[in-house]
Amino acid sequence: MKKMWAYGLDTETLSILSKKPLDERKPSMGIKKLSVPIPNLMPDEVLVEVYASALNYNSIWSSLAHPVSPFQLINSHVKRNPCNKDHIQPFAIYGSDASGVIKKVGSSVTSWKEGDEVLIHCNVVDMNDPLSHQDSMLSSTQSIWGYETNYGAFAEYTKVRSDQLIKKPNHVSWETAASFSLTLSTAYRMLISDNGANIKTGQTCLIWGGSGGLGSFAIQLCKLAGVKSIAVVSSEKKAEICKKLGADFVINRKSKNIIDFLDKDGNPNLLGWRRFMQTIKKMGCDPIDVVFEHVGSNTLGLSVFLAKRGGKVVVCGASSGFNATIDLRYLWMELKSIIGSHFANYDEATKAANLVFSNQIKPLIYSINPIKELPKLADQMFDDETNGKIVFNHKNTKF
Ligand code: NAP
Repeated sequence: MKKMWAYGLDTETLSILSKKPLDERKPSMGIKKLSVPIPNLMPDEVLVEVYASALNYNSIWSSLAHPVSPFQLINSHVKRNPCNKDHIQPFAIYGSDASGVIKKVGSSVTSWKEGDEVLIHCNVVDMNDPLSHQDSMLSSTQSIWGYETNYGAFAEYTKVRSDQLIKKPNHVSWETAASFSLTLSTAYRMLISDNGANIKTGQTCLIWGGSGGLGSFAIQLCKLAGVKSIAVVSSEKKAEICKKLGADFVINRKSKNIIDFLDKDGNPNLLGWRRFMQTIKKMGCDPIDVVFEHVGSNTLGLSVFLAKRGGKVVVCGASSGFNATIDLRYLWMELKSIIGSHFANYDEATKAANLVFSNQIKPLIYSINPIKELPKLADQMFDDETNGKIVFNHKNTKF
């Protein structure tokens, strides 16, 4: 059986990792170089030789095996998609963003052929579920490729369903094509789509982590939509990046006048919330229509507090923790809403990609690296030392 190189977790490494308490784990402990068989194709799948890939926060969760291990996620995917039982292996290959060239197509694939240059979006869904035709993100078969499925982007070859492909235009480099799909499509659905906050010209949006993977796109989407953005960051260097991306206002959450949002027991610190609101008002910002939220425990309660009467908090993640305390009085008395959002359907992912292809949105690329640097860069992302997207070049990588 022909083999390929890949990066991910094997069951042996998982058993060592699982014995460590969470606060002693680092992503690099859960990312191993593997040699695994090149996968076989189902009729609706294609084999892509990966030329470039990008790191997303879901690979940090996978490598920490937290909140659940990638093997548990893959098992759940296969329960919901029994035809994918070949994904159950003693290894899990991570990675949810890639570009490359099609090497082989399954027997029922008619829209793509060997040699096509493509990028891959990460929404895996069974289009035989009627709900998929309303919005594929609503289907119970839906999973994220390279997180909930095996055979992700960090490998010599990956296999994906043919409806995960987007044609790569010639003028877009492999690295750019691999850099944006997961985060830009997520930000697009959260802000622009009817399925998200559906921002309108003249509104104001607060963006947590403005220089991060999601935040750097959220700032640019607000600019395009004529929405004023307030970006929050943790250093002056990141503040400068947000200004260059087009943020109208920037707050350094580590500056002296900002008080902790939570007290030492993790409960809301109302003094900290009010001080933060005053800082925003003093800058001359209009009341906040939409809060772009992915931080979780540390900020969700504050995000609800900050949104104006009738405003929206759109949530897609929880980097600082999954359990958050909200003072519900600020939600119902002021008629606010919280919208849960997750990746994007094929239409939203394609519209988001077109914004890059037409140069209206520029991915903020932190660095382009050989794939062997993945464990080191995953640690840096976890330690909040990076900004924008970390990209890997696969060309010329040999096992
Ligand atoms: P990222 O590039 O690491 O950026 C996250 C940013 O969040 C950081 O730059 C940091 O900015 C800010 N942050 C981290 N901890 C914080 C805290 N305690 N308080 C305030 N801000 C904090 O990650 P990303 O790619 O943008 O992803 C962010 C989250 O969204 C992850 O949890 C990821 O899993 C999730 N996500 C979900 C989906 C989905 O489809 N559901 C898609 C993409 C991402 P500063 O330090 O500068 O403030």
